[in-house]
Amino acid sequence: MGAILINLTYILSSILIILGIKMLGSASTARKGNLISAVGMLVAIVVTLFDHHILHWTWIVAGLGVGSLIGGVWASRVAMTGMPELVALFNGFGGLSSVAVGWGEYLRVQRMGWEKYLEGMSTPAFTLGAIGLAVLIGGITFTGSFVAYLKLSGRMSGRPTLFSGQKAINALVFAVILVLGLLLVLSEGLPAVLPHAHAILIIIVCLSLLLGVLGVLPIGGGDMPVVIAFLNSFSGLAGSAAGFVIVNTVLVVAGCLVGASGVILTVIMCKAMNRTLGNVLFGGFGAASGGGVGAKVEGEMKGISVEDAYYVLEAANSVVIVPGYGMAVAQAQHAVKELGSVLEKRGIEVRYAIHPVAGRMPGHMNVLLAEADVPYEQLCEMDDVNPTIANVDVAIVIGANDVVNPSAADDPTSPIYGMPIINVHEARTVFALKRGKGAGFSGLENALFFRPNCRMLYGDAKETVSQLVGQFKEQ
Ligand code: NDP
Repeated sequence: MGAILINLTYILSSILIILGIKMLGSASTARKGNLISAVGMLVAIVVTLFDHHILHWTWIVAGLGVGSLIGGVWASRVAMTGMPELVALFNGFGGLSSVAVGWGEYLRVQRMGWEKYLEGMSTPAFTLGAIGLAVLIGGITFTGSFVAYLKLSGRMSGRPTLFSGQKAINALVFAVILVLGLLLVLSEGLPAVLPHAHAILIIIVCLSLLLGVLGVLPIGGGDMPVVIAFLNSFSGLAGSAAGFVIVNTVLVVAGCLVGASGVILTVIMCKAMNRTLGNVLFGGFGAASGGGVGAKVEGEMKGISVEDAYYVLEAANSVVIVPGYGMAVAQAQHAVKELGSVLEKRGIEVRYAIHPVAGRMPGHMNVLLAEADVPYEQLCEMDDVNPTIANVDVAIVIGANDVVNPSAADDPTSPIYGMPIINVHEARTVFALKRGKGAGFSGLENALFFRPNCRMLYGDAKETVSQLVGQFKEQ
């Protein structure tokens, strides 16, 4: 296949991917958009298989076999609640592959010599710079995502790990990487450095892997959504740098798209937490409250039976359902949709209020509710619901905790102080569905559950919601 044809097909595939992403912007076109992007990616893969300059059939088949086996077994075993950490890990593997591409290409250059390798397409300094960036960003993404995976899956404490001199050590490691990177880029023109260039690259790889761990350790608690979006963006940028290394247009474009959309997501997540990126990356969770742990919550949680909750709901005119991570754990989305439908049949206005960081991955609640066919028009963003919440008769909180914690609004000593929440405490009545007295991801006590207008509906969310639906059907 000629180089021109390959590049033209890459452009076609880039257009399909961009078009697909554009269509993801609306729920009505999202599925089609996903398909179009997937076709774009398939076209890119098929064309790449014909580009023998890049790949070798035996390795492709071996990689496909091993990758499909591991991916298939893993994906079939993962519980729905394990998806966020799996996604975090996938980001990491994206980073690892960029490290492999960068390093592998460096070894290929060593074997072939620069002239044959570049064939006038680039300069050694540019290629070495791209290799340095691919291994740096890829290495940080790999180990950073792995730490995020450990934190999300509970294999490691989700709290920030802080120690003295941490920022200075991180800055030092980064500075050393920059100096070594510069030496690598200039190595072809520096006879004293040239014999050590490969060793320099290996040290950059090791330090980047270390920086990933050191960078994510101090981030935790409610700040995790930001770091996940950020690492997602990094995996794209690493892919893009790898694209420059192997002069592959579609990899550069796809990497930039992931990188840019990851940055947008990071900004959305920062806004949702009311934090700046610098604050999240270098501040440590709770730094905004001066390291406070929040005021002690006084009072008692009052329970309510399903029957009594039914009578209150039956008399309501408007209901707002606020899903959280517990809905994902209970897999209650279909039951929740059924509850929404029976309430609507009684002429009650039903809306679903989605907090941007509810659940354990961006868009978690939207995905689950879409799976249960909840009409998209009924999904409301936090900023649209909050001004109307005082007129809501009943807010049903389904396995949400941190995203409805009023301490974020009125307790300056709380680590989540300043984070926008869904103000369900302002509704006339709140039903909080959870199994017991367990805290949310941030580990904080929730003052909402002690408010006079809040009643606890204890039990697994799916069972409780199904029982409520049963009450409506019986009457
Ligand atoms: P939370 O993690 O704050 O709370 C979830 C609640 O669900 C718990 O209090 C738990 O209480 C309850 N629960 C668990 N299982 C069940 C069940 N089977 N039935 C009923 N209830 C159940 O969730 P939120 O969605 O409110 O907040 C998300 C948190 O996660 C935020 O702190 C956010 O920063 C963080 N985060 C978000 C990410 C994202 O991208 N969205 C990524 C990483 C972290 P109990 O044990 O008593 O049942």
